[in-house]
Amino acid sequence: MGPPGAGKGTQASVIAGRLGIPAISTGDIFRASVTQGTPLGVQAKQYMDAGEYVPDEVTNDMVRDRLREPDARDGFLLDGYPRTLAQVDFLDGVLAERGQALERVLELTVDTEEVVARLLRRALDQGRTDDTEDVVRRRLEVYTEQTAPLLAVYRDRGLLVQVDGLGPIDQVTDRALEALGG
Ligand code: AMP
Repeated sequence: MGPPGAGKGTQASVIAGRLGIPAISTGDIFRASVTQGTPLGVQAKQYMDAGEYVPDEVTNDMVRDRLREPDARDGFLLDGYPRTLAQVDFLDGVLAERGQALERVLELTVDTEEVVARLLRRALDQGRTDDTEDVVRRRLEVYTEQTAPLLAVYRDRGLLVQVDGLGPIDQVTDRALEALGG
């Protein structure tokens, strides 16, 4: 977890690689669907372009389908999911059906202004149309309103570990792996 621009995607793929599990990024799946012009992509695009969340039912069904793929059978790292309380409930249900449970929730903490600067840099580098300044500010607002409250939920469950997301990528990875227990 962490606000947009905290470095979740970068860290998720490196950490999942080290742990030998797939990184499942809902944002990546939505972006690929938009590029491919699938019905899911057509549905998701309007929300993404506005900095809003894709509706829970759409996102939840997609995650459940992805988790059914064989590579996710014994473990996975979720990047950018869950982001709402309804998604937390849904994920609890899916995991219970599978006889699994979350082991850790990792939060990358960053300064908001640093995040805005990062996102605008990334928009330039990667041509991401979801990252204009207005949309970036809206995405941060949505994170604060809808996703930040999930941190308390996972803290209460004793699952939350927090890591400083500022600094060179490999240092953040080292901190994250240490926080996750080596
Ligand atoms: P991300 O790359 O994780 O920042 O995701 C990019 C965009 O995809 C978000 O701004 C949302 O519009 C959408 N998205 C990704 N994950 C979710 C989610 N768990 N729930 C709803 N929308 C999501």
